[in-house]
Amino acid sequence: MNSSKASKISISPNGELKVPDVPVIPFIEGDGIGRDIWPATRLVIDKAVEAAYGGTRRIEWLELLVGEKGFHQTGQWLSDQALQTIKDYVVAIKGPMTTPVGTGIRSLNVAIRQKLDLYACVRPVRYIDPVPSPMKAPEKIDMVVFRENTEDLYAGIEWQAGGEEASKVIAFLNAQLGTTLGEKTGIGIKPISEANTKRLVAKAIAYAIEHKRPSVTLMHKGNIMKFTEGAFSRWGYEVAKERFGARTITEAELYEKFDGKQPEGKVVIKDRIADMLFQQVLLRPDEFAVIATPNLNGDYISDALAAQVGGLGMAPGANIGDECAVFEATHGTAPKYAGLDKVNPGSLILSGVMMLEHMGWIEAAEKIRVALQATIKAGVVTYDLARQISGAREVKCSAFAKAITERF
Ligand code: NAD
Repeated sequence: MNSSKASKISISPNGELKVPDVPVIPFIEGDGIGRDIWPATRLVIDKAVEAAYGGTRRIEWLELLVGEKGFHQTGQWLSDQALQTIKDYVVAIKGPMTTPVGTGIRSLNVAIRQKLDLYACVRPVRYIDPVPSPMKAPEKIDMVVFRENTEDLYAGIEWQAGGEEASKVIAFLNAQLGTTLGEKTGIGIKPISEANTKRLVAKAIAYAIEHKRPSVTLMHKGNIMKFTEGAFSRWGYEVAKERFGARTITEAELYEKFDGKQPEGKVVIKDRIADMLFQQVLLRPDEFAVIATPNLNGDYISDALAAQVGGLGMAPGANIGDECAVFEATHGTAPKYAGLDKVNPGSLILSGVMMLEHMGWIEAAEKIRVALQATIKAGVVTYDLARQISGAREVKCSAFAKAITERF
């Protein structure tokens, strides 16, 4: 076991992570079932790191008191100190968190994303055999969605119909810009900027290059919303050319110059209208590898794709910015199951896999992925999957984690 002193992960000026052999990683246990799935996840990660690196590497965990635990022990749901710690340590992982009611906090998750400028919500979608899926060939689905996290209709710029603000905006639009909006109309503003689009799409392309994925699809509704969604697509092609010109070609070039045969080492940049893409991920899922898209489309497509591989229960996720990244379970706190050692820790465990990959600890990540798949394939599963897979053996949350570690 490496007994060296633990130290911080840092970022070099070119944006690469520098990960010591014993990094300190902050974690938020999460509320509700967080107390079940976090210990299960931690066990799996620790054992995988040990098995992959024979004790030369390990993680030193640092608990952050955020959410209900934070409120009960410190009086704060989300302190500035906790946010600063995530920034300082560059990589963090979190369980689900309750949305505090009546506190003025819209959502702790949204607050973390906004305050740390975690602008890319990254959701890999991959089938795990034999999880029941509505698709005929779910194994063809292997996509990663990069959803812009900071703007679009989610920027929170909206006013209630009949309110003073909405009335002012309507009066201005009707008088100055020639619209004919009626009095009782709710107003929402959809900002999509060049800078935020380009940094998101650049992240998606860099990911495709690093992970040898064949294409990046810009998903948008630019045929209708030309200056927001349409601009997203245009800026996406621009940043591909400006920053990755030697490593990317457009779909048009693929056919004009390469006769439709993908040249070695190039990522194809294409775009699809959102409604058409929803059809194509059902009909021809193997044509899509990485999807980059504005906030609202991203919300819809990530959940739809998760359903195509068997539901949200096992879907991992991450929110990534330039300064730090937070890996998280994508489901909520499922309060009625809290403390029962019953639920599926798969979503948080697979988020841990993403975290290890992000750190470059690929061997440990792969060990977990393979062992988790083998465990489910052997029919050792938690209640949610046991009731869907015939002949499966239902085990508790902690026993499922232990069964994974026994396959390392
Ligand atoms: P939820 O995801 O907590 O639960 C809905 C149902 O899904 C549960 O009753 C359970 O049947 C199932 N489920 C969820 N996670 C599971 C798991 N790991 N294994 C097996 N089954 C699982 O959604 P909700 O009930 O709408 O929300 C409860 C709370 O969670 C709310 O306070 C909400 O704001 C919060 N929430 C947090 C996040 C987050 O932290 N990322 C996401 C969604 C909801």
